Amino acid sequence: EENNKCVIVIFGATGDLAKRKLFPSIYNLYKKGSLSENFAIVGAARREWSDNTFRENVATSIQDSKINVDADLDDFLKHFHYLSFDVTNTSSYQNLHELINELDEQFNIPGNRIFYMAMAPQFFGTIASYLKSNEVTTTIGWSRLIIEKPFGHNLESAQKLNIDLREAFAEDEIYRIDHYLGKEMVQNIEVIRFANAIFEPLWNNRYISNIQVTSSESLGVEDRGGYYDHAGALRDMVQNHMLQMVALLAMEPPNRLTTEEVRTEKIKALRALRPMKSEDVDRYFVRGQYGRGMVNGKEVNGYREESNVDPNSATETFVAGKLLIDNFRWAGVPFYIRTGKRMTEKSTKIVIEFKELPMNLYYKSKDEMHPNLLIIHIQQDEGLSIVLNGKKVALSGETTPVKLDYCSSCQDVLNTPEAYEKLLYDCILGDATNFTHWDEVSLSWSFVDTISKVWENSIPTDFPNYEAQSMGPKISDKLLADDGFHWWPIS
Ligand code: NAD
Repeated sequence: EENNKCVIVIFGATGDLAKRKLFPSIYNLYKKGSLSENFAIVGAARREWSDNTFRENVATSIQDSKINVDADLDDFLKHFHYLSFDVTNTSSYQNLHELINELDEQFNIPGNRIFYMAMAPQFFGTIASYLKSNEVTTTIGWSRLIIEKPFGHNLESAQKLNIDLREAFAEDEIYRIDHYLGKEMVQNIEVIRFANAIFEPLWNNRYISNIQVTSSESLGVEDRGGYYDHAGALRDMVQNHMLQMVALLAMEPPNRLTTEEVRTEKIKALRALRPMKSEDVDRYFVRGQYGRGMVNGKEVNGYREESNVDPNSATETFVAGKLLIDNFRWAGVPFYIRTGKRMTEKSTKIVIEFKELPMNLYYKSKDEMHPNLLIIHIQQDEGLSIVLNGKKVALSGETTPVKLDYCSSCQDVLNTPEAYEKLLYDCILGDATNFTHWDEVSLSWSFVDTISKVWENSIPTDFPNYEAQSMGPKISDKLLADDGFHWWPIS
């Protein structure tokens, strides 16, 4: 019980993430009684705000989100304090230390603290080492770090960041956020696989022909051009979210559902990922950049015309790739991934395509039969569908695909917690299962680095190569067509 009493320090408390995700999540936890009264939030950021200004902003952010404000907001806001903060100034950390000690006293908190880095990533390492040198992390309770993406720009910078963080926090105190791991249906992958006798025995290369993971955005880069133009879709999406979903789909069943066991299996799956050779990158990966197009009857900018984007930018806004996993379970089964901006709709879906039966009674040609599919809808709708073959009504000897749909978010829209809410609560409880371990980060960067090196050294001549409101460049179809497959529609 003592264990969820804590002070949460949010670095970057005037920023977008804090406003859109963190404050509403903390309020929801409070409403549900998941936080005791023994908690305090310290907002630290550059601006000269008073506690009151901060509280007004927190209140606005909660009212602007879709949550029902029914628990007493004023009582809630009393837990919020603000500290004007300069990340490279020792006295800021001394002030922080004093404030935390006062709050421990005031709210009867046993020295537990979470440091949440919701600030530009170049400050992550700096803040950690100042926290350490000013002994803010020295406490009789526990001390944890939550760190946002991006975790480095490549393996080398990620290693450097990790060394900096490890000066102040042990590996088991570091909670690396991948908010996809907080999504209800991403967490459900494990349950679908390991709690169902109709799937678990089939989950291998004898019965599955290929797996497709699509995460598409309908929006363009919006106001994140400055960051995105240096990152691109490979770093922004593939290194973290896409490979995390692949690891969950591919991993062996864990011995138990403990952090240690689940992570071990994910790490093993990522180790089995066949490393890309530079000369193979063009064969296995496709990049794209969106051009102009029409969205809802209005012409929208191409990527190179977006603000804070280089007008000759070679940054990819779309990636598709074919991954192979070299172990006994998956040898020969391609995992296709694709992700991009300005695609037809916002959607994250996983399609598991099963192999054909050895014999077909209903058609002369094998291709006429529809393969069985299991579709996991991660977002916008959460749920799953199964595509089976049934008898065509009235006609004998013919079949038709039948789709069984289960929508989990439809039943309980209001009570489906946000990813951030669940992850924050996990961290308060000390459960790191749904956060990425350093080994996962480093294995993912090793894989991605080969591709980004090849791409940086060969400027694409065909950019922009897809229109807004499309499913990316046509060449991404060829990845699958060469293997005799095609992308399944996402809607
Ligand atoms: P933001 O630019 O909106 O906010 C940055 C915050 O940092 C502000 O509170 C600002 O006052 C503070 N800050 C900046 N420089 C400072 C300094 N020198 N000293 C003290 N404070 C300083 O950024 P954001 O969108 O909230 O993103 C924060 C982090 O979260 C980034 O690492 C980003 O990649 C990550 N992230 C954001 C989102 C999102 O939806 N916004 C999603 C995923 C990850």
